Amino acid sequence: MIIVMKREATEAQIEAVVRKIREFGLDANVSKGTERTVIGAIGDERKLDPEQFDILAGVDQSLHIVKPYKIVAREWHPQDTVVDIRGVPLGGPQIQVIAGPCSVETDEQMARAAQAVVDAGCRLMRGGAFKPRTSPYTFQGKGVEGLAMFRQAADRHNLPIVTELMDVRTLETFLEYDVDVIQIGTRSMQNFDLLKEVGRISKPVILKRGMSATISEWLMAAEYIAAGGNHNIIFCERGIRTFETYYRNVLDVTAVPVLKRETHLPVIIDPSHAGGKAWMVPALARAAIAAGADGLLVEMHPSPCEAWCDADQALSPAELNTLMGELRGIAPVLGRSI
Ligand code: PEP
Ligand code: MN
Repeated sequence: MIIVMKREATEAQIEAVVRKIREFGLDANVSKGTERTVIGAIGDERKLDPEQFDILAGVDQSLHIVKPYKIVAREWHPQDTVVDIRGVPLGGPQIQVIAGPCSVETDEQMARAAQAVVDAGCRLMRGGAFKPRTSPYTFQGKGVEGLAMFRQAADRHNLPIVTELMDVRTLETFLEYDVDVIQIGTRSMQNFDLLKEVGRISKPVILKRGMSATISEWLMAAEYIAAGGNHNIIFCERGIRTFETYYRNVLDVTAVPVLKRETHLPVIIDPSHAGGKAWMVPALARAAIAAGADGLLVEMHPSPCEAWCDADQALSPAELNTLMGELRGIAPVLGRSI
């Protein structure tokens, strides 16, 4: 971190800044220019917070010079990380499409959905048993019963399952059902207690972007998980809030190259919650893959108009098939397979 002193800063004020830096166990380098004095903190500057220095007398401003995230940063780990999901690689040359219904409803619905996932050539299945709904009066998910239904339907095809964890108290149950990938939803991205808990286990985690989160906040949320020891993190962009109301959210495709530059971890896109309409999904999915995403999280229901949740945005099995065919055409152009 560097601390820029005001023009009129006194020797005593400069000394006070140096003392404060040393209290944190770092060394200080004082550089006196003709106009101003700039003090550099030498050592692990992540221990320092600019706010602690900005309030000192004589300080103009203080700024970090290295990024506040470390384990997730490409700066510290230049090669791409490939997350292994029970033998399915995510983050390597092979693109993964995770498909399935918004929520687990019935045994029959899940059986048909699992069959459609396999028939389309996808290797991973999604489905929510605990649903974060805007209204408390709408379907909240099947809960533990839903986890059991999901596990059973997916196991028939040996499909790893992806499902959302909303509450730390449910984590043990998720482990009992051997959930393969834990999804942290947009509304939980900054639930730091939840992030710390999934940081303590080794199961892969899909970390969705908060609907109003900046890239930097999102990276810091991932750092919470990584700091606990779990480095199996997958970023998922699912659309952000803007002034536009025509569609559910705005898919921030720019986040893909930016994250690819900032982090070594895989990046996927959820085109379903971004557009909010099934007809928008193929275009957004193609854009995501063209931009360099490592995969997609797509809602597909065996009978979309009967879906209990997010019916408007669910692809039918036939539409998922068509999309996979299109992506099979795009992937090789980008040096990837699907
Ligand atoms: C979901 O994937 O079912 C979901 C609720 O997504 P999000 O957290 O992005 O709204
Ligand atoms: Mn949904």
